[in-house]
Amino acid sequence: MDITYWNKDIETMDRSAIEALQVKRLRELVDQSLKTEFYKKRLSRAGITSADDIQSLDDLRRLPFNVKDDLRQNFPTGLLAVDMRQVVRVHSSSGTTGIPTVIYLTQQDMDNWTNLIARSIVATGCCQDDVFQNMMTYGLFTGGLGLHYGAERVGMTVIPVGGGNTQRQVQIMKDFKTTVLHVTPSYLLHIHSKLENFNTEPNDLYLKKAFLGAEPYSENTCLKLEELYGIDAYNSYGLSEMNGPGVAFECVYKQDMHVWEDAYILEIIDPETGESLPDGEKGEVVLTNLVRSAMPLFRYRTRDLAFVHPEPCPCGRTHRRLSRILGRTDDMLIINGVNVFPSQIEEVVMAVPEVGTNYLIHLSKQGTLDRLTVKVEIYAKMFTGNMKELDALKKKITEKLRASITINPHVELHEPGALPHSEGKAKRVFDEREQL
Ligand code: AMP
Ligand code: ZN
Repeated sequence: MDITYWNKDIETMDRSAIEALQVKRLRELVDQSLKTEFYKKRLSRAGITSADDIQSLDDLRRLPFNVKDDLRQNFPTGLLAVDMRQVVRVHSSSGTTGIPTVIYLTQQDMDNWTNLIARSIVATGCCQDDVFQNMMTYGLFTGGLGLHYGAERVGMTVIPVGGGNTQRQVQIMKDFKTTVLHVTPSYLLHIHSKLENFNTEPNDLYLKKAFLGAEPYSENTCLKLEELYGIDAYNSYGLSEMNGPGVAFECVYKQDMHVWEDAYILEIIDPETGESLPDGEKGEVVLTNLVRSAMPLFRYRTRDLAFVHPEPCPCGRTHRRLSRILGRTDDMLIINGVNVFPSQIEEVVMAVPEVGTNYLIHLSKQGTLDRLTVKVEIYAKMFTGNMKELDALKKKITEKLRASITINPHVELHEPGALPHSEGKAKRVFDEREQL
């Protein structure tokens, strides 16, 4: 396999050199953090008053965790550690509670972030020959502009379409012979369900690769998309608090995502106790951004659940790999006392060949019990009028789900396009239990 690096020295650095660089940058980060009143108070409570309190990577554990609420409470400028005149970019993520979290970047921060994305893109084998169509929303969301700058730096031909307008997306893919997409997996599935309406087949397109991220999705969804379009799909992980995309990306081997450890310190913790977990064990991803001076953020609890691969990757990069995001500490559903992650349901339905490109999870109350309904779109060819066949399919999906999540779901089969879909991050869980 052909391996190309963006910055070979950094990407293949010895582990000990990576760790030494992390310590150096962590010390700078502590100094920078101490410029804000919030961190000054928080760090002094932990006994840290200067960079000299950090001598080794173990001292990271002395730093307190930060959570999304800390960012919200400091809205809008409480965590800003430079003069606003040095800030060249603002991004934000609007959570569900209304108060957004905001991040700031200086020109140097922008440059660091852009290089990380360029590095990620090159790791997938992309180059100047590629035509890159960015279907992520532009604006305050980091997925649009973040990838845009990185792709330009690689020298790809960048088409900044943004999200939505499926017909135009398909037309542009054809007109400009797009080879690479950046898109949410749910939207790429949706586009496939619409191709027929535009008299287009995947073969009429020139696609080779897709960068998929911004929302949780299963291995089976990834395989399905690769097959439907005949492409290679690369997982891309990031979050606005850590700048956005470019935190972790799959390389050509597609065996989970290299976390760029010269720029981020990755920890996996037990979400209950906060204790660090060894490589290989599943827990909450905690990240420290080492290369952003405008708004320092350390030991940020992402609420994403994953594990680290300790084994080296055949591509030669020494930066450890993070597994697919297996769920979130806060999206776990408790259904009649059983813990279920939406990702478990997705894993099952997406492996059923008759299932199309969209599904929903609906929860309601039936008396005192919870009722789980899984609504799936199935391919149009299944609606032949043969009810027996549909009943058998329903039974098959129900049984597969019961075997996986130990709960008996109600399965509904729907025609393609019948379920609501989104063009950005998908909303697939509708929980109406609280209102009853
Ligand atoms: P935002 O801050 O709006 O960019 O949202 C970041 C969140 O999106 C992360 O904390 C994850 O929960 C989710 N996310 C981003 N990329 C992925 C991915 N590749 N797989 C699963 N979830 C993702
Ligand atoms: Zn690799």
